[in-house]
Amino acid sequence: MRKPIIGGNWKMNRGTPEESNQMLERLIPLVKDIKSVDIVIAPPFTVLTTVYEILKDTKIKIAAQNMHFEEKGAYTGEISPIFLRKVGVEYVILGHSERRDIFNESDALINKKLKKALSIELKPIVCIGEHLEDREAGNTKKIIEYQFNETFKNLTKEEILKTVIAYEPIWAIGTGKTATPEQAEEIHIFIRELLKIKFDIETADNLRIQYGGSINPNNAEELFNKKNIDGGLVGGASLRSDSFFKIIKAAIK
Ligand code: PEP
Repeated sequence: MRKPIIGGNWKMNRGTPEESNQMLERLIPLVKDIKSVDIVIAPPFTVLTTVYEILKDTKIKIAAQNMHFEEKGAYTGEISPIFLRKVGVEYVILGHSERRDIFNESDALINKKLKKALSIELKPIVCIGEHLEDREAGNTKKIIEYQFNETFKNLTKEEILKTVIAYEPIWAIGTGKTATPEQAEEIHIFIRELLKIKFDIETADNLRIQYGGSINPNNAEELFNKKNIDGGLVGGASLRSDSFFKIIKAAIK
């Protein structure tokens, strides 16, 4: 049995201490009795410490939205994964399509970050997904297989098992267009097949694969009811405690 995991990616949309406090103070009492779903919030770097103070006595975990692959050095404007650990961050989102597309992050770079995160026990949430033109050209599985092989290059079974994969079709992110549960399930099954080939059946069965792309309180349950979808990575609908709570509730099995 895989425990569903729901991540709220605030991106650059909610980030003052006041906004963070207001959202989380509402969310905490709503989710306090939920034990069967892992809940993770990814705020901007500037409020990680504030969010840690608010969440430290709760079960809600903190993710960073990105990190650098080195621990230290002359990398102006970058954030060391060690600094993240020191302020109570447990997870890190890597390879989000916005990082890939807007900031030109390659699979090789994401692989470097992934290896570093694993080496210092930051739990990676690694995003993969196809563009609309890939899907329309019938290339979805080809793209997913390529990203999978390159992003997870040279990982051991023990390492990959500490990773969460987020399948995020890029055409569904922030667009209001959600993949149908069947479209999402088909790719989740495909990713499990890749895991089985590269690792083994135990890895394929145990690794958590989230769906991401315009999840909202109305479509979450149908998506999470699919056997191979282990929760979701949520952008827009994670900004408000009421909609995020409904999505978390939809993941309870
Ligand atoms: C995301 O940022 O990973 C995401 C899925 O965003 P949204 O839910 O807004 O589509």
